[in-house]
Amino acid sequence: MATVADTGLQFTNRPLTSPISADERAAVLANPGFGTKFSEHMVTIEWTEERGWHDAVIGPRGPIALDPACAVLHYAQEIFEGLKAYRHPDGSVALFRPYANAERFNRSARRLAMPELPENVFVESVRRLVEADRDWLPSVEGGSLYLRPFMFASEVFLGVRPAKEYKYIVIASPAGNYFKSGAPAVSIWVSQEYTRAAPGGTGAAKCGGNYAASLVPQAEAIREGHDQVVFLDAVENKWVEELGGMNLYFVFDDGTLLTPPLSGTILAGITRDSLLTLARDEGLTVREERYSLDQWREDAKSGRLVECFACGTAAVVTPVGKVAGHDGEFTIGSGGPGQLTQELKDRLVAIQRGEAPDPHGWVMKL
Ligand code: PMP
Repeated sequence: MATVADTGLQFTNRPLTSPISADERAAVLANPGFGTKFSEHMVTIEWTEERGWHDAVIGPRGPIALDPACAVLHYAQEIFEGLKAYRHPDGSVALFRPYANAERFNRSARRLAMPELPENVFVESVRRLVEADRDWLPSVEGGSLYLRPFMFASEVFLGVRPAKEYKYIVIASPAGNYFKSGAPAVSIWVSQEYTRAAPGGTGAAKCGGNYAASLVPQAEAIREGHDQVVFLDAVENKWVEELGGMNLYFVFDDGTLLTPPLSGTILAGITRDSLLTLARDEGLTVREERYSLDQWREDAKSGRLVECFACGTAAVVTPVGKVAGHDGEFTIGSGGPGQLTQELKDRLVAIQRGEAPDPHGWVMKL
């Protein structure tokens, strides 16, 4: 089991000034939804060129005042992460692969010319927040506490250059079960007018700007009657990359799997990586190879492609039943959730929730 090493930073505790009543909290936890309800605490850590990381505080969650000339508001120098804490059957609380998020956070920081946060500080900040807000873990089946660490340029300066001051914050949001049992298959829309990331761009970084740019194509998908948008590569407009917030897997009739490679234009999902390992543990062959939209359509029509799913922290694993674009649509397998998709999801969820052994040391108990 992973542990937290000494961070070298002193965290100051600030008490809650107006705690939320147990009744109010219970009402939130009975129906948490996603992303609209928040816990009571937050962590903040400051960075300046002179002092490095300092003033680590865990205290009441609340608004932050920003000067209108704050750099992030103009040039979007901002990155974030997303991970979850789960309650285990023995009553303990655990994080899933938080060091993987810490590493990715620093890769994003480097791409956005921001200071790196020591991995153990990242993990300790998340751990402390979950500990303070332990009571905010929903007890509803499939519930979790979604954690959102982020960092932005807080320097008051309008010049275009890396800022000299940053704020790192962690907040938490109780999350319900995306899909109670057996996720329904989603329908996805191929964006042919818009792309998500170009070679040399920021596609592999988890920065806010990538998501701002995905909103118009996502809205187009909804307008066309679909749930999610899938992006193709920006050079040939041919190769399947990922959804707006999830990676993709394809399952073939010979039992092999394929997922697009980490080419630099897609986000290296931690769910993607975990499923790659779990599938290989099962003796399955998983290829990390480019896959074209034309091949996707052809394989779905011939029956060679039997299942397809999207994966990410929020929804874990989501079957893809139908794919549509300007030149028509096609159905994958029966159009419903597939068997291997469900098996892999069950394996991963059981480890995350402490219901199965953790052979890879992914679970970090608080
Ligand atoms: N791709 C994108 C663009 C995402 O935003 C996410 C969510 N972080 C993912 C893939 C899945 O990553 P993870 O499995 O680490 O949540």
